[in-house]
Amino acid sequence: MNYEDYFRRQLDGLRREGRYRVFADLERKVGAFPKAVHYSPAGQREVSVWCSNDYLGMGQHPKVLAAMHEALDRAGAGAGGTRNIAGTNHYHVLLEQELADLHNKEAALLFNSGYVSNWTTLSTLASRMPGCVILSDELNHASMIEGMKHSRCETRVFRHNDVADLRQKLSDLELHAPKLIAFESVYSMDGDIAPIADICDVADEHHAMTYLDEVHAVGLYGPRGGGISDQEGLSGRLTVIEGTLAKAFGVIGGYITGSGTICDFVRSFASGFIFSSALPPAIAAGALTSIRHLKSSSYERERHQDRVATLRRRLNEAGVSHLDNPSHIVPVMVRDPVLCKQISDVLLDRYGIYVQPINYPTVARGSERLRITPSPHHSDEDIEALVGALSEIWAKMGLAQAA
Ligand SMILES: *Cc1c(COP(=O)(O)O)cnc(C)c1O
Repeated sequence: MNYEDYFRRQLDGLRREGRYRVFADLERKVGAFPKAVHYSPAGQREVSVWCSNDYLGMGQHPKVLAAMHEALDRAGAGAGGTRNIAGTNHYHVLLEQELADLHNKEAALLFNSGYVSNWTTLSTLASRMPGCVILSDELNHASMIEGMKHSRCETRVFRHNDVADLRQKLSDLELHAPKLIAFESVYSMDGDIAPIADICDVADEHHAMTYLDEVHAVGLYGPRGGGISDQEGLSGRLTVIEGTLAKAFGVIGGYITGSGTICDFVRSFASGFIFSSALPPAIAAGALTSIRHLKSSSYERERHQDRVATLRRRLNEAGVSHLDNPSHIVPVMVRDPVLCKQISDVLLDRYGIYVQPINYPTVARGSERLRITPSPHHSDEDIEALVGALSEIWAKMGLAQAA
């Protein structure tokens, strides 16, 4: 076999389908969010970023940066090992206490990313309960799906946000079999929100555990930024709440929260936790400061919601339709991978606006889109520039009906 040739042909296949991924080479500019410098073959230039998951710009908040500088100077660069072998720094302990409090849980456990926290926790919990059956929402994130696969447990996929279908699937199972329902609060691509209370009711009826991914909601919803479960007063009803430190909190890392026993169980049995070096102390310090700030400040959340509402209204007025949903994610549907990439290229090259095209396998084929994420730092002028550019492109490409 000619290995190089084989891999090259696979990549050519992606290009033919129009879903070959091209990274925008950016340098974010502290104090100028959402502006960044784009390094392109044509040279450097300033662009406006409209697809960042640093939803609130906390990645450059002065308090967060100061905390990271201070921890870096006090404790150095790396953690020095796995949590078990010399790697547990006091900042990790403080951060886990803060996270437990954020979600009204007894305990929390840190991971190196949200991806690892989902993968590791789901695979560990499910694989170590003999006969466990997992009930998984059909739109769950890749990190959850990989974790469930790795557990080798039976997984039954229920229709997206469909409580009746979930109840039906649970009814088919033996009453005493261990069951775990895995779902998200805000779904990252459509921006819709799960009926958490109803899912908890069904879980109680069937004596099932619940595992909620709040990655796209922590920091953003709830009086203290504890996510949709915080907003709806439901934290206590969920067995495990999982989140990231890399999106609204602006840093990096993932976590779970739950009872002391569950966190201790994962801490003690999970390969993906035990055998990987701990996050650098400065990272933990930055995340800690970001969480504390957003617990007491609602300014960022209110301004964020205001920017989202303004963008939606202006898009409607300009005839650029987008998925209607109750969250901060504004998906403008294009439904064709080649066209989606083309629009994104024109936005960047001609207007200095960066919105990454979202293609398969991140979303289903035929549902390709521009996923727009306004932040508190996008000004009215930024919004006008984006809406103006999209309506010009829509007019030129005759897209009014396509969306
Ligand atoms: C981004 C994402 C993750 C992974 O979190 P990271 O901290 O980026 O690894 C998990 N779940 C969902 C729904 C996500 O969108």
